[in-house]
Amino acid sequence: MQFISTRNRKPVVNFRTAVFEGLSPDGGLYHPLEIKDLGNFYDTLSPDMSFVSIAAGMIKALFNDEIPRADADELARVSFPFSPELSKLYEGLYLLELYHGPSFAFKDFGASFLANTMSYFLKKEQRRSIILTATSGDTGSAVAKAFYDKANIDVVILYPSGRVSPLQEKQLTTLDKNIHALEVEGSFDDCQRMVKEAFVDAKLKDRFRLTSANSINLGRLIPQSFYYIWAYAHLLRHKGLPPCFCVPSGNFGNLTAGVYAWQWGLPVSRFIAATNINDVVPEYLKSSVYTPRSSCKTLSNAMDVGAPSNFERLTAVFENDADKMRSMIEGRIITDEETITAINDVSGDTGRTVDPHTAVGVLAAKRHIAQESPEYPVVVLGTAHPGKFIEVVEKASGITPELPESLRKVLDLEKKSVVVENTVESLKAFLEKTFQS
Ligand SMILES: *Cc1c(COP(=O)(O)O)cnc(C)c1O
Repeated sequence: MQFISTRNRKPVVNFRTAVFEGLSPDGGLYHPLEIKDLGNFYDTLSPDMSFVSIAAGMIKALFNDEIPRADADELARVSFPFSPELSKLYEGLYLLELYHGPSFAFKDFGASFLANTMSYFLKKEQRRSIILTATSGDTGSAVAKAFYDKANIDVVILYPSGRVSPLQEKQLTTLDKNIHALEVEGSFDDCQRMVKEAFVDAKLKDRFRLTSANSINLGRLIPQSFYYIWAYAHLLRHKGLPPCFCVPSGNFGNLTAGVYAWQWGLPVSRFIAATNINDVVPEYLKSSVYTPRSSCKTLSNAMDVGAPSNFERLTAVFENDADKMRSMIEGRIITDEETITAINDVSGDTGRTVDPHTAVGVLAAKRHIAQESPEYPVVVLGTAHPGKFIEVVEKASGITPELPESLRKVLDLEKKSVVVENTVESLKAFLEKTFQS
């Protein structure tokens, strides 16, 4: 499979290059050059197929030019020791639970696949690489967990000292082995600036083979299409009609991955882009005008994005035509007040607890169903475990969600970090000392 930038028709790159470069040299995002037809593979789907076997089938269908079939099976197996689950919340409304991975959010699927893919390519070439990443808390732990103990890769995570939650800090600093936590005396912006300055230094980048693992990487996006296909396969048993997917969205990576699966031939009735009041995409769907702006803080804070990075990929799919996008995607906006009500209602109606991000999706889906009375099933993507957002859930429903066992254990482990000044020189000094070659 080949990829090009969203901004220019050149250069054309393979998957390996897209994964290690992350961003295209022109500043655009990599996206598929041609539209694959996966109809033959989709025809083989059945409700009994495991997530690993669907993932393996997809890796073979997409990357047969770069990953041999036997390696594809192994890559799927090591990447996904966890699986999505599908449960029924209401009549016609299903929850696709994507939070059973190591960091209890859907980002585990992308991070784990990226880590294992990088490790696979590096092993074949007998090379080593260092991943450099800045975090304000949450994504860092998904990356750290995913890359932990992977061959040929070291990870250096920069986080702002005293500005991440105690649980997040423990998740970043207790892994050891190939995961190195740098506690920066400064802000998250300082961490990001240090990483950017290190990448600009071509000699440094080359010497330590620095690479990144941020959310725009195709190696994180593509595997997210796998669970749409898995959900479709499981729903064959329930209804037979193409499902509608309702996606709580921020940077729109998750939704874009679903749109790719559909573009490759997966039967889908509709997508719902559910956002909090950071609603630039629903606004575009209404007015055909895209106006990115700075973000506002909400209860569903992983969706507080005012300039969604994957919008460029979405408009590429729909050829910059708002009508085309509207024919497949509908926008729905949910406020914080409504989010709290939704958590409460789900708990009262079903006895289940959902996190604030998932709650945005559930309410958007309920509104769609109330207006359209659809025959097709509606599937809400459950993006995080409610135990990750205890305060909000408690306030809404009076119920304290269980903290998952492995998160509770992390709190008792010993923190190991290296304190550094907020300058690129101190980052360089750390790299020299730790990885001198
Ligand atoms: C990242 C995240 C989202 C938003 O996903 P995008 O792919 O950025 O649209 C939603 N919910 C949770 C819990 C997240 O961590």
